Amino acid sequence: MARWNPCVLAVAIGLVAVMPTGVRTEGADRGAAGPFITRHAELRAALDRIARGSASWRAALAAVAGTGRTAVVVTPDEVVVAETDGQARAAFDRSEVAAVSPVSDDTGRVSAVLVVVNVAQIQAAHERLSSLPGEFHADLERVLAHEVYGHAVPYLLAGDLSGRCADPVPGTPAAEACAIQRENVIRAELRLGRRTDATLSSLSLARLLRH
Ligand SMILES: [Zn+2]
Repeated sequence: MARWNPCVLAVAIGLVAVMPTGVRTEGADRGAAGPFITRHAELRAALDRIARGSASWRAALAAVAGTGRTAVVVTPDEVVVAETDGQARAAFDRSEVAAVSPVSDDTGRVSAVLVVVNVAQIQAAHERLSSLPGEFHADLERVLAHEVYGHAVPYLLAGDLSGRCADPVPGTPAAEACAIQRENVIRAELRLGRRTDATLSSLSLARLLRH
């Protein structure tokens, strides 16, 4: 079973450094969701569905809007390749489902959080499974509940790196981890099931991993 623990990856591969010039946000649709910005139609629609269905999400939107900080939700295609010593390297591991990275300055202040969601990978998995559209949509909502509400919102509200909301660590119950607990708040309000582990098994596309 694949581990779903990509959230340290983005920092390790240097997305923080890439973000200020590396993500194109012009033309991004702020939509009804205010501080959660995306220009991807499926992500925009998923963010809007969550906002309609979850009072906790709407409260977070209002609170983050008051800070002036933003979460920028993008696909891997929108993350520009980083140049290191003239060598291009990918800024996102495309085998991952999603990653999140706070954009901070030298003092640890966070102005925005970058959330990368591999929509193409999730969509392709569902196409191989002949899923119903609703199953694909529900998985996008689960991923966004974890990455945006679980990780991005605490950073944005804190305004610095103290807002880190941790993923499960081996040897401790996943359901006690900060990010999983927050994800489950949104899942409960949207009736998307409860996540109790650190893997992808609670996503509909996890069926693919067993075949
Ligand atoms: Zn996480």
